Amino acid sequence: MDLVDPFGRTIRDLRISVTDRCNFRCTYCMPEEGMKWLPRSDVLSFEETERLARIFVERFEVDGLRLTGGEPTMRAHLPVLVGKLAELRVPADSATPFAGKKPDLSITTNGSSFRLLADELREAGLDRVNISLDTLRRDRFLAMTRRDELARVLDGIVAAQEAGFSPVKINAVIERGVNDDEIVDLARFGREHDIEVRFIEFMPLDAAGHWMSDKVVSQDEIVATIDAVFPIEQMPARGASPADRWRYADGAGQVGIIPTVSKPFCGDCDRVRLTADGQFRTCLFATTEFDMLATMRAGASDDEIAADIERAVGTKWAGHQINQVNFVRPNRSMSQIGG
Ligand code: SAM
Repeated sequence: MDLVDPFGRTIRDLRISVTDRCNFRCTYCMPEEGMKWLPRSDVLSFEETERLARIFVERFEVDGLRLTGGEPTMRAHLPVLVGKLAELRVPADSATPFAGKKPDLSITTNGSSFRLLADELREAGLDRVNISLDTLRRDRFLAMTRRDELARVLDGIVAAQEAGFSPVKINAVIERGVNDDEIVDLARFGREHDIEVRFIEFMPLDAAGHWMSDKVVSQDEIVATIDAVFPIEQMPARGASPADRWRYADGAGQVGIIPTVSKPFCGDCDRVRLTADGQFRTCLFATTEFDMLATMRAGASDDEIAADIERAVGTKWAGHQINQVNFVRPNRSMSQIGG
């Protein structure tokens, strides 16, 4: 049975945060010090995560599961969880392209541990990888992530490709005055390494609260900057994907841009989220959460949990209000929600 929100959008994609912890401290996401981590007992166990994921996939025909965090590779024994999720099956009579198959399993990671984990994750059933990389300069990488780990991330990208993940994508958040002078260099890196770079507009989800609209480099600016050096042409409509895509006119691959702020794509949103502490969110920017951890631990049946999920999806709003005066920032930052 499809999970449809009040605006007629069918939910197909569940983002699962497996930990709020991270080994980086990206300035646009986390503070340098003083993060308060969730107590371990408040984090969903693998069994609880699998149970919720099973309800989404087997009852509601959700056909995409993306693991995120915090940094998902910091969760011990992550391949075990991937193995459990890989055993789920979308109902055979579902209208999705995944009918009768396992859902598409992907991860968003900073890549720093991917050399150690790539093969195991691939064997466990992970399909796709997005690695975050906002700069190719070591000093700037240190300034932006507060960690001197550029070489490890670059090697993690190679490891992901060597393990057979395809496509491997790069996520690059662009912040004005910080790394907007590297748009062309990052695009070139993608072209040279057969990687789709996805530029992400800076969103008001940084723990420090320093986001301001003039720090956002818009999709139009990013397109113009790339096009001036490597001519690009827009590809057909994105569907439910958050990224608009362009192909290089010379055939050297494609590039994506996620225009959350300048061109919100809420009308096509098919995503919902589960935080590491089992809070169900119907939007990245939602200010309301539904406590699935408490529901499960109180002994709810699968039917009761499914009914709660339907009720929650019934509250999904038409769209975030970033560009409106009445926009209220969620009280948790990106790393706590699960980007
Ligand atoms: N640690 C993993 C990683 O680095 O990819 C997964 C979690 S991270 C929160 C997920 C994505 O959110 C990353 O691509 C990160 O760059 C992005 N992100 C974090 N804060 C952001 C912000 N304020 N605006 C836009 N993107 C942000």
